[in-house]
Order: sequence, then C-alpha cells, then structure tokens
Amino acid sequence: MIADKMVSFVKNSSVIRAMFEEGKIMADKYGAENVYDFSLGNPNVPAPKEVKEAILDILDNEDPVLVHGYMSNSGYEDVRVAIAEHINKTFDENVNPNNIIMTVGAAGGMNVIMKTLLNPGDEVLTFTPYFGEYRSYVSNYDGVLVEIAPNTDTFQPNLEDLEKKITKKTKALIVNTPNNPTGVVYSEETIIKLADILRKKEKELGIDIYLISDEPYRELAYDGVKVPYLTKYYENTIVGYSYSKSLSLPGERIGYLLIPDSVADAADMIAAANVANRILGYVNAPSLIQRVVGRCQDAKVDVPFYDRNRETLYNGLIEAGFSCIKPEGAFYLFVKSPVADEKEFCAAAKKHNILIVPGSSFGCAGFVRIAYCVAHETIVNALPGFRELAKEYAL
Ligand code: PLP
Repeated sequence: MIADKMVSFVKNSSVIRAMFEEGKIMADKYGAENVYDFSLGNPNVPAPKEVKEAILDILDNEDPVLVHGYMSNSGYEDVRVAIAEHINKTFDENVNPNNIIMTVGAAGGMNVIMKTLLNPGDEVLTFTPYFGEYRSYVSNYDGVLVEIAPNTDTFQPNLEDLEKKITKKTKALIVNTPNNPTGVVYSEETIIKLADILRKKEKELGIDIYLISDEPYRELAYDGVKVPYLTKYYENTIVGYSYSKSLSLPGERIGYLLIPDSVADAADMIAAANVANRILGYVNAPSLIQRVVGRCQDAKVDVPFYDRNRETLYNGLIEAGFSCIKPEGAFYLFVKSPVADEKEFCAAAKKHNILIVPGSSFGCAGFVRIAYCVAHETIVNALPGFRELAKEYAL
C-alpha cells in the first residue's frame, strides 16, 4: 500500500505532464506535424554551440576521475567561482562561491530550500497564477502553500492581498519573474513596494520572511525589458536559478541556489541547504553538466527565436478574437478562456489537435496556458485551428 500522502499526489498529478504524454500518443496516431502540442515548457531551441564544445573539450582534456567523481555537496569550487563572478559582473553584486549551491535544476533547488526552511505548518505565499509544482515542493516538507489572489487584468502581483495574507506563520514568499504561466515581468516599482511590505511585516510580527526568487526564465525577456535582480531590493532574498531554459538543458537537471550573506542566518542556512542537498538524495548536482555550465556563463540561447513565436502567436490569437495580455518574458501566453470552464475549452481545442493547459493547474481557472517554445511552423499551422475555435465560440 502506498503512502497516504502519495495517494493524493498521484490523484492530482501534473496535468501538464499527462498532456505531454498524451501529445506523444497523438503524434504517433496523427503524425507529429499534425499535432500542435503547446503543453510543456520544453525548449525547442537547441543549446548554444558553446555547450557541445565544452562537453567535448571536458571529456578530451579534463581528468575523468574529477569529471565523473563525487565532490562537495555544494558542487565544484571552480564552477561556483565562475558563477559568482558572473553574478557580480552582471548585477554588480558581491557574492562569493560559498553563497552558491549547485542543484538538480530549479526543482531540486526549490526542494532543497523548502527542506532547509520549513517546519510543519509554516506558510509559504505565492502569487496566483503560479507554477503548479510549488504545491508539491511546499507540501513535501509539510508546509502550507497560501495563494495570493490574482490581478486578472494585468497579472502583476496583488500587493494588497499579499499584505493581508502575511501572518506569524509566514516563512517565505515565492516569486517567479518572468512568470510561468503569464509571461509577466514584475516592474522595479512593484518590487520596491513588495520589499517594503515584507520589511514592514517582518518588523510588525517579529519574524523573518524569505523572498524566494525562482528564476528559470531570467534571460528570456523581450522588447528590452529589464528583469530586476531581487537581492538588490530585499536583504532576505534567496535566488533559485536554472539552466533548463536559459541554455535549453532541461533534461540535464542543472541549476543553483544563491544564498547571499545578507540573508538572516545566512551561514546556518548555507550549511543546512548543503545537508538538504545530500540527504534528499541528490548528493550533488550532476557532475559533467556542472563543469559545462561553469564554462558557459556567457553563452546565450536564441531569444529572438522565442520573440518571433511570441509575436506570431499573440497577433494571430488577438486577430482571431481571443484576449490576452502581451507577455514581456518567458515563453507562455495566458489566454482568457471563451467559456468559464476552461477545461471545456481545452477539450474543444484538442479536437483540433491543439494541446493547451487549463489555468486551474496554475491556481487560476478561466484561463489557459499556451507554451510557445515550439517550432515556428507549429504556431503557423495551429492558427487555423485557433480561428476555427474562435468561430465555435462566436468571438
Ligand atoms: N519553476 C518554474 C516557474 C518553472 O516553470 C519550471 C519549469 O518549467 C521550474 C521551476 C523547474 O525547472 P527545472 O527544469 O530547472 O527544474
């Protein structure tokens, strides 16, 4: 008999993952070119050439015992030096390698930091809509995920509701900008206000509130939009970074946590996160790809590719009659469902071989998420189906 907790995890298992599996079955049945799978944030852009060059060079020229061996739980020292230098150069920061722990992607990093922070019953806030896996990351350590109501007109964070939902039990706030699923980038003005609220509440309630910045989409911003680096605005900020999207390496499982010295109890926090990385069974982040990202700090994924997809899909949907805010980052559109039950709309889309994800998976019913990290032709070829759908719903 499986554990009670797993029964509910299995029951509520990721809709996105289920669709991804279904998409593969549909591709076998109808031919991959006739299925428009917008379900998963799996980048269609290849990793930059520097990645392959680094892999080959490391295998040819580095000591194989080092390349494939165990290491400190926090990762290779020289890789963390390279990352710290990159952060300092890019964001004018002053972090050192000890502040960095290499993780098994952002997902691994989030689990490590939740295990490090949470006592049973501790509350973790997040702005709705949010990446649905946060529910499991928090519940894994018996925390309680508290949803902050959405601003459905802009999808910028609802700061009034944030203030209301902070209690003595609040341990952390997870933010994700550029955002999955809305593509919204939080403005500097918003971040300043948000930091003021957190500081005020910390003082009022006599607690530490950690801001956890989940940043897999940091580099994916369009139209010259700047993504504020949150450690600059709030002392108790911990960054969870990932190379899954920024270098198109999601299957390699690589990222890092940054716990700056400014964070309350930083030394204890860093030591505990290292132990959490080990005892969760990750032990350390995968070795070869760690060495690769250490060398690829300046490599860049093809952002204009995603931008072209964004323009084609956004303009096509708006012309068809759908409504949606124009995203400034990441690679998702969060489109208003033409019917209140967005699952019904997703089912109707499936009849046109279009796979999209219900907003309820992100805590926000009435909307659907369309991931545009796909081949450009997939978007072009799916647009007639979207136009048909618009007609069916008389948009
Ligand atoms: N956080 C957000 C907001 C995401 O969208 C994703 C993946 O899509 C993750 C975390 C997990 O990323 P990783 O592949 O680095 O574990």
